[in-house]
Amino acid sequence: MIQYDKEALDAIRDGVRGLCAGFDDAYWRGVDERQDFPEEFVTALTQAGWLAAMIPEEYGGSGLGLAEASVILEEVNRCGGNSGTVHGQMYNMFTLLRNGSAEQKDHYLPRIARGELRLQSMGVTEPTTGTDTTKIKTTAVRKGDRYVINGQKVWISRIQHSDLMILLARTTPLDQVKKKTDGMSIFLVDLHQAIGNGMTVQPIANMVHHVTNELFFDNLEIPAEALIGEEGKGFRYILDGLNAERTLIAAECIGDGRWFIDKASRYARDREVFGRPIGKNQGIQFPIAEAHIEVEAADLMRWRACEQYDSGLNAGAAANMAKYLAAKASWEAANVCLQTHGGFGFACEYDVERKFRETRLYQVAPISTNLILSYVAEHLLELPRSF
Ligand SMILES: Cc1cc2nc3c(=O)[nH]c(=O)nc-3n(C[C@H](O)[C@H](O)[C@H](O)COP(=O)(O)OP(=O)(O)OC[C@H]3O[C@@H](n4cnc5c(N)ncnc54)[C@H](O)[C@@H]3O)c2cc1C
Repeated sequence: MIQYDKEALDAIRDGVRGLCAGFDDAYWRGVDERQDFPEEFVTALTQAGWLAAMIPEEYGGSGLGLAEASVILEEVNRCGGNSGTVHGQMYNMFTLLRNGSAEQKDHYLPRIARGELRLQSMGVTEPTTGTDTTKIKTTAVRKGDRYVINGQKVWISRIQHSDLMILLARTTPLDQVKKKTDGMSIFLVDLHQAIGNGMTVQPIANMVHHVTNELFFDNLEIPAEALIGEEGKGFRYILDGLNAERTLIAAECIGDGRWFIDKASRYARDREVFGRPIGKNQGIQFPIAEAHIEVEAADLMRWRACEQYDSGLNAGAAANMAKYLAAKASWEAANVCLQTHGGFGFACEYDVERKFRETRLYQVAPISTNLILSYVAEHLLELPRSF
């Protein structure tokens, strides 16, 4: 199994922290209040090369592994920021890197690495089918040298801040395939060409600061070369990227968890009620200690997932369990932090309520907790499939 160089990882932590120091709590609070996009932060992270960490060196990236990428996102969240504004670029690039043609990779990856193009969006979820992805209704029909797309997607994030989107659509109807996972394909959609020419974007006001949208496709025509990999194998390609995605989300949750625990501990030491710091009361300190233990335990599973992934092993079980444990631990830490702050936990200027909302998302997206439990029950414990 791979042995990580702790000093090299610490150097990444220091570098990301240094960059994040220029984007303090007031910056993120302002972005959240305005429901804005942290453009300056994303540009700085891109220009410093952090978002191209996993792009191979031959395409202008740093060629680093999942462990290093996970440390970058963890530190953003630990510093009070929100990696949800950038993480898509890291996952989506995988799908292109692993399944794209040599021409597609040569054309897009160096530009993504240089920050000239953003691949921040992936369109999978649909309003009427939800988690049951094989039933998606968006279709792509080949007509000569084009595909014609019709259908609808929901919750598709960062469209307004991306140049490209990976889109999953059915190319063979469900009733004409042997396996329900067959017959879906992925496409690299040029958003500048698509919007207004068959694709409409409808933003969804939502609880977390996540620029996310409904998409409508009405005879959107895209070039046949936009197909990534083989027609009909798109579902497998999407699944392939999920272990990396889940591990990265786990690291973000670890970053959140540590932010909440630091914040709660500081407040518990400083806030005096009944003539002594509230942190002297076990009713305050035990929940913080418990949250700390749970975040640290989740972190061990995150490192197992990184090690397996970076060693080329199947990281499916560890990645799913890491995501489950970390999302739960960060949410529990959020709750404890809010409770420790009493009424001030609800005041926007303390940032607890913002981070509380942000970390809650990860028990639902990009995969909900129940679906991870189903995976573990079915694939690890050999229990009967429940759906
Ligand atoms: C802010 C935000 C950003 C997002 N960004 C993107 C994006 O960029 N691209 C994208 O494609 N999607 C995105 N999503 C969608 C996200 O991946 C889905 O919301 C998530 O996968 C759950 O799907 P659903 O909302 O359709 O829930 P549903 O599938 O309707 O499920 C609802 C609830 O029922 C549970 N459930 C369903 N079936 C079962 C079962 N068989 N057993 C037990 N429980 C079950 C689920 O766990 C869930 O809790 C985003 C969502 C949000 C909220």
